[in-house]
Amino acid sequence: MRKNMVAGNWKMNTTLPEAQALISEIVHMVQDETTGTPAVEVVVCPPFPFLLPVGKLIPQGGSFHLGAQNCHQKASGAFTGEVSAAMLQSVGCEYVILGHSERRQYFREDDELLSQKLKAALAAGLKPIFCVGETLETREQGDTFKHLEKQLQDGLFHLSNEEFDQVTVAYEPIWAIGTGKTATSEQAQEVHAFIREQIARAYDAKAALATSILYGGSCNAQNARELFSQPDVDGGLIGGAALKSRDFTDIIKSF
Ligand code: PGA
Repeated sequence: MRKNMVAGNWKMNTTLPEAQALISEIVHMVQDETTGTPAVEVVVCPPFPFLLPVGKLIPQGGSFHLGAQNCHQKASGAFTGEVSAAMLQSVGCEYVILGHSERRQYFREDDELLSQKLKAALAAGLKPIFCVGETLETREQGDTFKHLEKQLQDGLFHLSNEEFDQVTVAYEPIWAIGTGKTATSEQAQEVHAFIREQIARAYDAKAALATSILYGGSCNAQNARELFSQPDVDGGLIGGAALKSRDFTDIIKSF
């Protein structure tokens, strides 16, 4: 059966001492308050320079996993300032977030580029957390499902069955990211069920049932339990609340 997951996307936040303090606090709180084994896979995604030091503070072989926030689409070469999937794998990353709306919007990452990044991540043995989501305008026009269907078709469903097995999907309505406006649990459930249906169509029912679908967008310690109780919501991709050890731990404990 599919796994529950809470992933923390630290975005462009923290200094090295802050990153080390944050992960230490989270690890200790989770160990103290869950008898060491939370019923959920926890993925922390710090900025690139902190992957190695943060990874060193994560207990190995347990519920904690390391993830990156992005990777380049090429394996190596003259691409000044970029980071490849193999580099991430070599410093202990298991996951990589791809298709986040901030990457799509501010760095013009489109479905074509994201398809290449997915392939590069999978080739290096990383498990992608692939984000989709609509703007407020798209939602108000009644085009949410059409938009999500296109993002999934053009960005993700080119993968083979074996490749797709490695993917976690995150539904992140753009109007809810960093705004304090959360989707209601009914809105989240409706979209998650739709995404699962699309996976069943593109692959098969087994793949649809096995794929974890996370909710992201102002998910916090207060609303996580309600959101995670929905049958098709398998966890969360957490931004702001992932930077607060108390809040992130409470979210982890929300299953
Ligand atoms: P937020 O961000 O929790 O701060 O809304 C979520 C995300 O962008 O992954």
